[in-house]
Amino acid sequence: AKQEKLSGIEVFDPELDKKLLENIQMEKKISSGIKNNEFFLLYQPKIDASTEQPVGCEALVRWQTPQGSIFPDQFIPIAEESKQIIPLGTKIMHLAGEQIAKWREQHFTPGHVAINVSAVQLLHGDVYGDYQDVVERYNLSPGEIQIEITESTTLQQLELITPMLTQLRDAGATIAIDDFGTGYSSLSYLKELPVTHLKLDRSFVKDLPESDALAIAKAISGLGHALNLIIIAEGVETKEQASYLKSLGYDQFQGYLYAKPLQPEQYSDFLNRISQN
Ligand code: C2E
Ligand code: CA
Ligand code: CA
Ligand code: CA
Repeated sequence: AKQEKLSGIEVFDPELDKKLLENIQMEKKISSGIKNNEFFLLYQPKIDASTEQPVGCEALVRWQTPQGSIFPDQFIPIAEESKQIIPLGTKIMHLAGEQIAKWREQHFTPGHVAINVSAVQLLHGDVYGDYQDVVERYNLSPGEIQIEITESTTLQQLELITPMLTQLRDAGATIAIDDFGTGYSSLSYLKELPVTHLKLDRSFVKDLPESDALAIAKAISGLGHALNLIIIAEGVETKEQASYLKSLGYDQFQGYLYAKPLQPEQYSDFLNRISQN
C-alpha cells in the first residue's frame, strides 16, 4: 500500500492504490493479448465530399479478451503510459499491412488505410522501421498507408518527432494530424511539419451549426487550404453536418452517416456497393 508521511500524518489513498494495481494488471494483459492475437482492426470508410466516392479508411483497433471486449478509450491510455503501445503499435501496423495484402489477392482496392500512431510510439518506438518492414513484407505502394497523429502531442514532442515524420513522408506515407483544434500545434509550427492532412475533431462536428463550432470549422478549413492540406471531418452523423462541412470546403468525411467501423469483408462489400451507384 502506498503511504506517505505528510507533516506527521499518515496519508493513505485506497483509490490510488486500486488504480495503480489495475493499471499493472492491464499492462500484463495487453502484453499477453498481443501474444495471443486478441487484437484486431476494424475499418471505417472515408468519403470524398464532392464525388461521394470512398477514398480509403481509418483502421481502429479492437481487443477481444477471453473475458469480453475492451474499447480503445479504456486501454490505449494505459498502453501509452506503460509503453505497451510500442509492441501493440508494431502489431497494428502489421495487421493493417496483412489486410491490405489480403484485399489485393481478392482484387479489391481499399484506398488508403490510415493508422493511428501515438506520440509515445514516435518518441520511443521505431515507427519508421515498422513502416519499412510492413511495406517490404506486404509489398505495399506509396500512399497506401496514412499515419494519424493526435494533436494532443505537445509542441516539444512535435519538434522531436519531426525528423521521423519526414522520413515516413519521404518513404511515401501521408500524414494526418488527428483531433485538430483540440491540441497545441501553433499555426506557425504547422507550416514546418511534413503533414498532408488535417482532421477536424469530432467535438466541433457534433456542435454544428452552433456559431462557435461553425467559426472553428471554418477557420480550420481556411488554414488547411492555405497550407495546401486535405481536410477531413470525422464523426459526421447527419446530412445537415455534412452539408455545412461541404459548404465550408471540407474534402473528406468519415462518420456514422456513411458507415461505422467495419470488419474487412463488410468494408469491401460497402465499397463495392457504393462504387456501383
Ligand atoms: P480517434 O482516432 O479520434 O477515432 C475516432 C473514434 O470515433 C473511433 O472510436 C470511432 O469508432 C468513433 N467514431 C467514428 N465515427 C463516429 C461517429 O459518427 N460518431 C461517433 N460518436 N463516434 C464515431 P474508437 O474506435 O473507440 O477509438 C477511440 C480512440 O482510440 C481513437 O480516437 C484513437 O485515439 C484511439 N485508437 C483507436 N485505434 C487505435 C490504434 O490502432 N492505435 C492507437 N494508438 N490509438 C487508437
Ligand atoms: Ca484517428
Ligand atoms: Ca480523431
Ligand atoms: Ca479522438
